[in-house]
Amino acid sequence: MTDKDNAKHKARMQEQKAKVDERIAAAQEDKGLLLVITGNGKGKSTSGFGTVARAVGHGLKAAVVQYVKGTWDCGERDLLEKNGVEFHVMGTGFTWETQDKQKDIAAAQSAWQHSKKLLADPTIDLVLLDEITYMVTYKYIDLDEVLEALNARPKDQHVVITGRACHRAIIELADTVSEVRPIKHAFDSGIKAQKGIDW
Ligand code: ATP
Ligand code: MG
Repeated sequence: MTDKDNAKHKARMQEQKAKVDERIAAAQEDKGLLLVITGNGKGKSTSGFGTVARAVGHGLKAAVVQYVKGTWDCGERDLLEKNGVEFHVMGTGFTWETQDKQKDIAAAQSAWQHSKKLLADPTIDLVLLDEITYMVTYKYIDLDEVLEALNARPKDQHVVITGRACHRAIIELADTVSEVRPIKHAFDSGIKAQKGIDW
């Protein structure tokens, strides 16, 4: 790289830094955020749990409601519970192979009642509603009720919602939305779910 190239690069970087600094200075608002992690790729729940770990690391109080994998092990649970995170796991271990719809609806409703309490509790700084999107899709939980509870929550409370095919009304309400897109997944090559990676 010549001196001229170097100087050009430096000027460009300085210009970029000035722009970023300006935007950082302009962002003055503090508020509880609604985050949505959706899409068909791997990384939604791990992102949600990662955010919980991040918050707990700062001394914030977090709670988790798991809507789908009630009967599955999940490596994060033990670790986070030891660090004061309250977990509520939906009773029946809902899966797509489920046989008892009424039982699933009752379990979803019970998890939702618990979620509503968390969303009304100003002492909870962060609520993770893992896989709740499916309950809305199947209409096991009423969308309007979800929107109402999210809207009415304490001003500083953060919420993370994960799951595929998030309803567009929740996406519209959210502050930050990420879609995880699958490019490759080991399962498609016949590799089974790995402890510590997939659960
Ligand atoms: P993770 O919990 O690993 O962050 P996720 O929450 O994004 O995954 P889910 O749709 O909740 O994904 O699926 C949970 C399980 O299914 C995980 O074990 C994950 O590895 C696996 N999985 C996720 N995406 C895919 C995919 N595209 N193909 C096959 N398996 C997948
Ligand atoms: Mg998940």
